[in-house]
Amino acid sequence: MKRVLITGAAGFLGSHLCERFLKEGCHVIAMDNLITGDLKNIEHLFKLKEFEFYHHDVSKFIHIPGELDYILHFASPASPIDYLKIPIQTLKVGSLGTHNCLGLAKAKGARMLIASTSEVYGDPLVHPQTEDYWGNVNPIGPRGVYDEAKRFQEAITMAYHRYHGVETRIVRIFNTYGPRMRLNDGRVLPAFIGQALRGEDLTVFGDGSQTRSFCYVDDLIEGIYRLLQSDYAEPVNIGNPDEITIADFAEEIIKLTGTDQKVIYKPLPVDDPMQRQPNIDRARAILNWEPKVSRAEGLKITYDYFKSLPDEELYKKEHNTFEGYIRK
Ligand code: UDP
Repeated sequence: MKRVLITGAAGFLGSHLCERFLKEGCHVIAMDNLITGDLKNIEHLFKLKEFEFYHHDVSKFIHIPGELDYILHFASPASPIDYLKIPIQTLKVGSLGTHNCLGLAKAKGARMLIASTSEVYGDPLVHPQTEDYWGNVNPIGPRGVYDEAKRFQEAITMAYHRYHGVETRIVRIFNTYGPRMRLNDGRVLPAFIGQALRGEDLTVFGDGSQTRSFCYVDDLIEGIYRLLQSDYAEPVNIGNPDEITIADFAEEIIKLTGTDQKVIYKPLPVDDPMQRQPNIDRARAILNWEPKVSRAEGLKITYDYFKSLPDEELYKKEHNTFEGYIRK
């Protein structure tokens, strides 16, 4: 039985990874400091004897007794509002946290996969983004704490691979959605659906001409699983190339939810990328992977999930706006 450590296990992607690796017959060691993760996402797994949970911050030394076959490092705040609220932790988990995970991988002879991001491309000047594009990132802007931590994460991962011979995998994750996203994390999809459910107008930032490409979570998890099983150490984009403007996306959500609310326009956040679309040729060639779930199908499932949440979740105020993020 393979033993897998998943960091950020109580988060959106981490919780789906826990389920997938349990389904594959692995023993899953889940770790989270619960700053942005939520035990509700994994509480249904606690009864399984193949599952254990450590409440620990991976930016501090990690001790895991016994053998480890795989480490998947998914701990990190991942929404712009989150990393503005906790910028130092964001930098630390991408740098110190990754260093600790790599040290653990080296000590245990484990294969390590890191969660990188399309944010390494910044506000991209190449479209769609291929893995050999180096990016256009502002290191000192509000997103810099996330983008640069993730770029450092890739650099140290390649260094451990080249210098120490650690088996490493790098997935560059594009916008992903699905059940267990936090309703109030500020990201566009939960923001729009939450607004529709509360009977509020949908807030489009800027003129809505910026684009994103949304991947359903099950497709992403399949891509990650295949990448881990492959022998490919260079970065691989995983995402859905189906690109849409944010203004059109708001219209889709209005249709999906049947809300009679309208769209209102707010200032564009600082350094908000104008376009984002993965080129997935590499994933197709190396992993024989491409997304299967259309936006219409995925959005329906996700909407049903958000609708099923209790009212207190819907009205919980986290930090919907954050001073300094929005252009004055
Ligand atoms: N956005 C928006 N309204 C919202 C939240 C986000 O128009 O209530 C925009 C945001 O400015 C960005 C896009 O939607 O252009 C995606 O934002 P998100 O925070 O989901 O992720 P990003 O891809 O920027 O990391």
